[in-house]
Amino acid sequence: MSEFDLIRQHFTRTTQNTDLGIGDDAALISIGAGMQIAISADMLVSGTHFFADADPYAIGWKSLAVNISDMAAMGANPKWATLAIALPNNDVAWLAQFSAGFFACAQAFHVDLIGGDTTRGPLTISVQIMGELPKGKALQRSGAQLGDDIWVSGRLGDAALALAHLQGQLVLPESLLASCATALHTPQPRVKLGLALRDIAHSAIDISDGLLADLGHILEASTVGATLELSLIPHTQSDVFVNDLRDPQQLKIVLAGGDDYELCFTAAATKRAKILQLSTQLNLPLTLIGEISAGSGIVVHGMHHEIIEFKETGFDHFS
Ligand code: ADP
Ligand code: MG
Repeated sequence: MSEFDLIRQHFTRTTQNTDLGIGDDAALISIGAGMQIAISADMLVSGTHFFADADPYAIGWKSLAVNISDMAAMGANPKWATLAIALPNNDVAWLAQFSAGFFACAQAFHVDLIGGDTTRGPLTISVQIMGELPKGKALQRSGAQLGDDIWVSGRLGDAALALAHLQGQLVLPESLLASCATALHTPQPRVKLGLALRDIAHSAIDISDGLLADLGHILEASTVGATLELSLIPHTQSDVFVNDLRDPQQLKIVLAGGDDYELCFTAAATKRAKILQLSTQLNLPLTLIGEISAGSGIVVHGMHHEIIEFKETGFDHFS
């Protein structure tokens, strides 16, 4: 199979947002008057971001989903993506599954694949995403204000639990493994939430590296600090995990577990009713977990009113 046949068979689908898609030297898109384009790229490398033998459908879904999540965090509407892929060989079964996962995600979020590049090499997947938003409406990391509430969508730690299970650090019961593995392999970027937050929030970020690390980016960009209430942070309810946040491993999963792709955002306290209404509308938990304060860094109030301090890069101590 030639390179061009491969592209046609696995990566060419009809488009909905695009003037000229795959097949020429460049794609063509049009954007509306008064709109801006948000652009972001994320690379997934075999052995680093996923196991070499991971389910190709999940790799396909996730390689696009993590990029769409960046659009959600900006308050942008994701519309176009390009895919640069290095493949060790022409494994047709792998490619069919990969592209099925990629396009399932593309379809779910109305994104067109409009171009890319295909080469032979160690399995590496680089996706660039482009989205649209009204000029000046982006949710930037630098927008957090003193006294803002800090909110988080969904619940944290599920993806990290699945990863810990896969790495043999703990054993999840069957019932919990399924939902945690879904969170790890096929994350659901919070696009509708991001769009709705354009007129509500002051700042936002998607949680890819863990709550503390990613909230830390907002704080740094906004030159403010934060206090968090551990008891308020939403996480997996289970008899087995996570049930005791004094356990350092469990604390780490909730506060520093990556890969959840939930949104963390800040908003004025006057927006509480609106945000709770939005939560109902989207059928997505939105939880108030803390407050933006003067200074820098994050202070976490523990389950028993003790203060748990962290350095920006990670844990200082646990109790
Ligand atoms: P060129 O040599 O002009 O760069 P290519 O032969 O690399 O063109 O690509 C042909 C067409 O296929 C282009 O429109 C390119 O954007 C698209 N394309 C190549 N690889 C991919 C891919 N992995 N996914 C989507 N589109 C691709
Ligand atoms: Mg090329």
